[in-house]
Amino acid sequence: MALKQRKLCYHLWENFSGCRFYSSRVDWDKLRPMILERIKRRAKDYPVRAMIPVANDVVNARALLIEGVSSLIKFIPVKACKRHAKNQFHTWIDGTLNDILVPVETFHLQNMFQDVITHDQRFDFERVPAVLELCYQAGANGCLYNSSSTSEAGKNDSVVAKSLSQHELMSVARLTMEAWERFRSGVQKLLLVYPAKVCKYCSEVHIGPSGHKARLCGVFKYEGWRGTHLWQKAKVDDLVPPKIIWRRRPQDPPVLLDKGREFYGHAPAVVELCMQAGATIPVKYFCMMKMQGFPPPP
Ligand SMILES: [Zn+2]
Ligand SMILES: [Zn+2]
Repeated sequence: MALKQRKLCYHLWENFSGCRFYSSRVDWDKLRPMILERIKRRAKDYPVRAMIPVANDVVNARALLIEGVSSLIKFIPVKACKRHAKNQFHTWIDGTLNDILVPVETFHLQNMFQDVITHDQRFDFERVPAVLELCYQAGANGCLYNSSSTSEAGKNDSVVAKSLSQHELMSVARLTMEAWERFRSGVQKLLLVYPAKVCKYCSEVHIGPSGHKARLCGVFKYEGWRGTHLWQKAKVDDLVPPKIIWRRRPQDPPVLLDKGREFYGHAPAVVELCMQAGATIPVKYFCMMKMQGFPPPP
């Protein structure tokens, strides 16, 4: 009797749900098409039409920004620390575009709802600038991944180093400053609509809802990290690192010393570069820059 009842329940459940169950195991052959169909329906909502102009604007602003910074660093000296050795002294070398606009790369997906990339598949997917992948998934027009936009390094040389008048330099600085603001605010808008992740341990970025399972080289130095990413919602700074630098104000000594560190101001590298080239800086940066702050005691 008990057996008969169970069989009846099973039968009813089968009719009700439209799928078959073998004991507690799900029949994946039948479920899979249903899941895929749901994903396809979800994918139809993307890209969100209203966001396509934003994605295009981000692509354009990024190109202007790269061009502007590449020009400005030919006239405004930029130094980067090559090696910070155990003796605590910096080793300064000439800075490049990548020292100002830090490259952040990610896997390029054919479709934002595709299966999670496994560690063994890590070489099957192209690595591309994360912001461009975001724009691609957001429906930006055109071919985003040509050779010149994939690699930001080496882009310096493509800009002809002609001499600029003071006025021209100022104008490039102003356009570059505007492009930086437009770029960041556009990425911010896209991140409100599109899912993007960042790993808490290794800062790897993933554009899309899933994250991935590929471990990348160079991340094992993080102590206690067991080889799985811990994905969190990505913010603008994860995709567009502001690269905060120390800045020297007129009231500071010619070379910043470690003992004055509580007094000096900071700024995103791009903002400082544009300001030194004569651009007007948005007020929101003034506080961080400590424009009117006291000089360090002598
Ligand atoms: Zn250093
Ligand atoms: Zn990670």
